[in-house]
Amino acid sequence: MQFRDLGAQYKALKSEIDAGIQAAIDSTAFILGKPVSELENKLAEYVGRKHCVACGNGTDALQLSLMAWDIGPGDAVFTADFTYFASAGCASIIGATPVLVDIDLSTFNMSPEALEEAIKRTIAEGKLSPKVIIPVDLFGQPADYTKIIPIAKKYGLKILEDAAQGFGGSINGKLACSFGDLSATSFFPAKPLGCYGDGGAIFTDDDEIDARLRSLRAQGKSPVDKYDNREIGMNSRLDTIQAAILMPKFKAFVDYELDAVNKAAGWYTERLKDKFITPTILKGFYSSWAQYTILLNNREERDGMQKYLKEKDIPSMVYYPRGLHQQQAYSWMGLNDELFPNAVEAANRVLSLPMHPYLTEEMVDTVANALLSK
Ligand SMILES: *Cc1c(COP(=O)(O)O)cnc(C)c1O
Repeated sequence: MQFRDLGAQYKALKSEIDAGIQAAIDSTAFILGKPVSELENKLAEYVGRKHCVACGNGTDALQLSLMAWDIGPGDAVFTADFTYFASAGCASIIGATPVLVDIDLSTFNMSPEALEEAIKRTIAEGKLSPKVIIPVDLFGQPADYTKIIPIAKKYGLKILEDAAQGFGGSINGKLACSFGDLSATSFFPAKPLGCYGDGGAIFTDDDEIDARLRSLRAQGKSPVDKYDNREIGMNSRLDTIQAAILMPKFKAFVDYELDAVNKAAGWYTERLKDKFITPTILKGFYSSWAQYTILLNNREERDGMQKYLKEKDIPSMVYYPRGLHQQQAYSWMGLNDELFPNAVEAANRVLSLPMHPYLTEEMVDTVANALLSK
């Protein structure tokens, strides 16, 4: 069994993907070719935004967003403690300071209450100026924007949505990548919508920010003269081949894959809910199930279960084994575990099970029976 079966997906879409790759090669426009702008238009329309700017990966999408707002030294960027490193690293690398926020243990997403406390604390300390909140749509479920957007308004902060895992999720029908002033996603192969290498995109409704992002992804070039560099930018463009691969994958994603992962999640929950803590999806929220993650009672039980599953050839993953405050790169912050009780609990207890659109009910049975038999 595969944790995320990209082979099954390729088999289903092979003729279209192969044709797209071949056409990209024939065109010899290997970087930012026509399929890239076609993809940008399609994705912007789907999530309900004016602009989509494709770039090299999800990490760059976050960094470019902060650069487009001139975030830098002295600025506080609030993000969740329990996430992939890039959610905070994107701020550090441009000299800003990430301020880590504990999560809700039920959704694994940023706790709005802890966020407001962190903002108040930062203001009271007076060392950093609060600028941006980066909520993370972890495991496919949007962060609780119904509470986070009012907090951002109250304190005059911008929202950069980290939807690297969230593409396809929604709240009351409003799609992920539409919640931030800027929203970033990733096309890393294992994400809900993945390509065959690295890729990412940024969404905005602001024409000026859109133009600035297009410049920043190409060394700060002017829109009319590529050798007239107006500011310091990055080299972060999407390959034409990746856009060509994403086109048929995006169609399948919308047509049936989102539905399929939600079915699979339902099968898991039905079988596991009496014995394990299964994922909580808030009322009106919809997940794209980047991960299906259960909670065991403690680290020992979690590690034991992972080992037990492995013996039965069932892959599982621990996303994530530590909070960002426990990362060596952030040891200088001197933050202790008591500040992040829920992130620490999550790191000790989470276990992500095989999840992808090509999972059958029989496969879910196999995984569930193994879990229940220990
Ligand atoms: C994967 C991921 C990223 C980074 O995306 P890449 O394309 O790998 O650079 C950022 N944030 C989160 C939450 C992610 O899961």
